Amino acid sequence: MSKIIASAAIRGAHKIVGQANQKWREAMDKWGANQPIGFPDTAYYLPVIYGIMGHKVEKLGDAGPVLERCRTLLPPPVREEHALPYLAPALDAGMATFFAEEIIEAIRYLEQPDFYTGQEDVTESTIWLGAADDIILRKRGVEFVDGTAPGFAAIVGAAPSPEIARKVAQELQEKNLYVFMVGRYNGRGFAEQLLEAGVQIGWPTRLVSFGPDITSAVFALGFATRVALSFGAVEPGDFRKILIYNKDRVFSFVMPMGYVTDEWYANAVGAVNWGFPTIADTPIPEILPTGICTYEHVVSNIPHDNIVAKASEVRGLKTSIAEVPIPVAFGPAFEGERIRKGEFYLEMGGNRSAMVELVTSRRMDEVEDGKVEVIGPDIDDVEPGGTLPLAIVVEVAGRELQEDYEPILERQIHHLVNYAQGVWHSGQRDIAWMRISNTAKEKGFKIGHIGSLLHAKLHQSFGRIFDKLQVKLYTDEDQVRQVLGRSKAIYAARDARIEGMTDETTDTYYSCLLCQSFAPNHVCVITPEKTGLCGSYNWMDCKASFEINPTGPNQPIEKRETIDPKLGIWRGVNDFIYKASRGSLDHYCMYSIVNDPWTTCGCCECVAAVLPLCNGVMTVNRDFTGMTPCGMKFTTLAGTIGGGISTPGFIGHGKYNICQRKFISADGGLLRMVWMPKMLKEELRERIRTRADELGVPDLFDKIADETVGCTEEEILPFLQEKGHPALEMEPILG
Ligand code: SF4
Ligand code: ZN
Repeated sequence: MSKIIASAAIRGAHKIVGQANQKWREAMDKWGANQPIGFPDTAYYLPVIYGIMGHKVEKLGDAGPVLERCRTLLPPPVREEHALPYLAPALDAGMATFFAEEIIEAIRYLEQPDFYTGQEDVTESTIWLGAADDIILRKRGVEFVDGTAPGFAAIVGAAPSPEIARKVAQELQEKNLYVFMVGRYNGRGFAEQLLEAGVQIGWPTRLVSFGPDITSAVFALGFATRVALSFGAVEPGDFRKILIYNKDRVFSFVMPMGYVTDEWYANAVGAVNWGFPTIADTPIPEILPTGICTYEHVVSNIPHDNIVAKASEVRGLKTSIAEVPIPVAFGPAFEGERIRKGEFYLEMGGNRSAMVELVTSRRMDEVEDGKVEVIGPDIDDVEPGGTLPLAIVVEVAGRELQEDYEPILERQIHHLVNYAQGVWHSGQRDIAWMRISNTAKEKGFKIGHIGSLLHAKLHQSFGRIFDKLQVKLYTDEDQVRQVLGRSKAIYAARDARIEGMTDETTDTYYSCLLCQSFAPNHVCVITPEKTGLCGSYNWMDCKASFEINPTGPNQPIEKRETIDPKLGIWRGVNDFIYKASRGSLDHYCMYSIVNDPWTTCGCCECVAAVLPLCNGVMTVNRDFTGMTPCGMKFTTLAGTIGGGISTPGFIGHGKYNICQRKFISADGGLLRMVWMPKMLKEELRERIRTRADELGVPDLFDKIADETVGCTEEEILPFLQEKGHPALEMEPILG
């Protein structure tokens, strides 16, 4: 490592550790050693310290030993006569920097609780988001694992102008990267520049304004560390695995903009520990030989119009940017954009007008590949802020095409349309809703571009299953009504297909091993009556996915001989689990939460837990942040059982699964459900009623407690007794 960089980084580390020491002493005098400290809503304490050292900082006093450790890690300042190598001491100094920064930031949370917004978006009062809580981690971290986001760029400082900031940010978004923004240069921060340039920032657009000081850089490293802990199932304290996980899987880099101070150097060198190189716009010394990072450590003096390309090259990031022939930018980073009232030129669906989406197969001679027709008025024919009805009809043809693929293709419409910058989409089928922004309209976006982007992207990802695709976009009221009528019949037929299937009458189940990339022993077995834990895969989807991609994550499992019909155990499933979990598990039960339940990965939609006092189970969805009667919040539950293990008494599961007939059927099924968050209960209202009717307890819905009744077993038990909840009459759940 360059001597100049090493000396600057070590100087910077001394300053930051010194600052942490001073802040800590003052805080100890003021609040005392027993004062609780930490980042909001997380099960990972101060995550860099917890991940790297395995040390939990819960109280002010717990930070003492960490500062001790910083002092031993800090090498003496570099003197002229010192010879190489500087690498190891400088890396240690960088690590001490992050420990110290976490303490500084934790004390800030204590002293100024409103300094950060504590949510995904900027607010009226502040644009700084602070540390991501575990909900954000689950939702966003999984994208680092499934490839929707390859990693992040940590931008420190500010660009020479808001316009350059806007361009760099958009280029990073188009590469699907998250942009973490920290610190200021010349009194300006990159995040502030983006706002000035009219760019929407916050987690949903992947432009994350962590904080105005360099110390908030530690939120980026904390995020990366938690990705390894939660999705990589790495044990806290196993720092080697955490660092290697990040180097190999999270494609990230540091991008300082402006004069690089000693403190910035300390952070940049610290990030090298995680395998994240630095790409600078100023002429700082370069470190080109490769060692810890996949490629060079520090590359400098890169002009702004080339900096993103250079960063991707240095970090070894390969993105395939599909050519999508539309006049606006396109990619998953634009999926989270919102378009508010006053910002849209045209609105379709969402109760303002009819909207419907349908993918349907046709004969080969009926489809002209790439043809896009707009039947009715276009965007130019309406006044600003106006509405149109819309029917998106995608017609596909192919020798290999099957009817089962239609819903799979149809499901893509939502996110693909959302990927277009300035175009917002929500819902599906006949409850779809779209907005096209004023800016997109100015750039020349027309209704027909919806068809062009669907043609390009569906061909790219699903070209295997069809040969030709054309899109008809109806905006004429009568025609939209006609499509709507036709579609409703098709939706009903599709629903009946999966609803009518049972596990007993099906010989083949499917696996999903997608989550093994972060929970290495996790195996989802998906049957007609059990969807995947994440809620995105049902049996039909897996079947189609296997046919589309025979070597992919969804493989058929012959269930063979039934070992236990009540618990849901089959010879073929056991064999598959043994192989797919690499011998760590030789069976699990598909129908029980109590007896050897299935494994849980970190991305489950809900976690269910046994409540012994109430003789029942509860379940909680990811969006519910409050306490639950099992004594743990969702984040803690998912963090505890989500590493790909089987934990009797707990299961991760999909929302849809709750009302499927086999849901914990060995333990009494849905009749065991005694508590759910109100929001989840409401979401499932109709399905709970239907299923409860089948079970002969038509008013079950009203007997299930929620947070308005109580959040402990003691609080909800009297309610269950008063309502006569069926679980209380069942045999002991832990019998
Ligand atoms: Fe697949 Fe299960 Fe992960 Fe969903 S939770 S992606 S079904 S392994
Ligand atoms: Zn998962």
